[in-house]
Amino acid sequence: MGARDHYKHGDFNAICDVCGFKYKASELRKRWDGALVCQEDWEPRHPQEFIRAIKETNTLPFTRTESENIFIVVGDVDSLALNTKVLNSFHLG
Ligand SMILES: [Zn+2]
Repeated sequence: MGARDHYKHGDFNAICDVCGFKYKASELRKRWDGALVCQEDWEPRHPQEFIRAIKETNTLPFTRTESENIFIVVGDVDSLALNTKVLNSFHLG
């Protein structure tokens, strides 16, 4: 005969899943992991388990196509035409 071995209307004896001691079923509480435990063994789920990572966006805000390559052979163009061609490529690119 233990301390919990007495009649209580509508109640029954149950064993705590953690400590194994006998309690009345009305004294046990269901824990977050589904275990039925006594008051001393009950604990809330740790708040760190509810933290969600912030979604990371790896996309660039804008993109551009790569400009065409300009190949220059020595003596092919004069300096004025070269400068115009280079400047246009920067503006178009
Ligand atoms: Zn217990």
